[in-house]
Amino acid sequence: MAVALVTGAGQGIGRATALRLSVAGHRVALVGRDPAKLDAVAAELAGEALCVPADLTDAGAPDHVFGAVEREWGAVGVLVANAGTGLAAPLVETTDELWRTMLEVNLTAPFRCIRRAVPGMTAQGWGRVVVVASVVAKRGERQVAAYSASKHGVLGLVRAAADELARTGVTVNAVCPGYVDTPMTDATVATMGERLGKDPAQARALLARRQPIGRLIDPDEVAAAVLACVDNAAITGQGINVDGGTVQS
Ligand code: NAP
Repeated sequence: MAVALVTGAGQGIGRATALRLSVAGHRVALVGRDPAKLDAVAAELAGEALCVPADLTDAGAPDHVFGAVEREWGAVGVLVANAGTGLAAPLVETTDELWRTMLEVNLTAPFRCIRRAVPGMTAQGWGRVVVVASVVAKRGERQVAAYSASKHGVLGLVRAAADELARTGVTVNAVCPGYVDTPMTDATVATMGERLGKDPAQARALLARRQPIGRLIDPDEVAAAVLACVDNAAITGQGINVDGGTVQS
């Protein structure tokens, strides 16, 4: 069993993934900005947990986080780069700051974590990197140009890294969810409701109907796809859709 590190582990998809990794027997390090949320998830885990609070937009955060895990447990074998943020704005109202935030959190932070993780993985001859991207890594969507660009970018990073590492025992994949039932989607529902003059239940139903299966994805359904990437050495360089049929590929 491996040492796993999950970013954005305090809620939503990160929490669900940490739970699954723990049930599968991995030691799980939990990373996010809010220590209280990490502690709450740690208390739910089946096995060993380590909370390492950090803001991953700090350039030094990956060194701090990986160093802390290595001192306790040794090299990280499974990196789930899940932390992310999604802000919406029409293209012409997308400020430089919004653009920068999307790229820093969703693209640069995963890049720095992968760069820090890979030497330990190649030294062991085994490693698994899974990035939680999005359905908008595969198709563009109105109102989220910066978020879509960051997620397309991170899928490019995954594909390049997978090719570079293909003979090392390290696989690199992305999972690409549609709308998942998490706090991030609660925020999307609230914004949509305000924009369209709908109450939260109506806005939520609208979002659910946008997906062919007619419902939101459960965070555990995304976590199951992450675990499939961890368990299968022949899957690498993929962006696995967990989107209720939105993108067919
Ligand atoms: P969420 O509920 O908002 O959780 C995001 C997590 O990321 C939080 O635990 C947050 O923790 C952490 N985080 C955000 N910024 C961070 C930073 N600078 N440093 C460290 N941690 C940070 O989101 P989610 O729905 O579970 O989404 C997880 C991933 O899936 C994201 O990459 C998102 O883009 C992607 N995704 C989500 C959906 C969806 O419908 N929900 C769809 C497609 C893709 P703190 O606030 O404590 O730092």
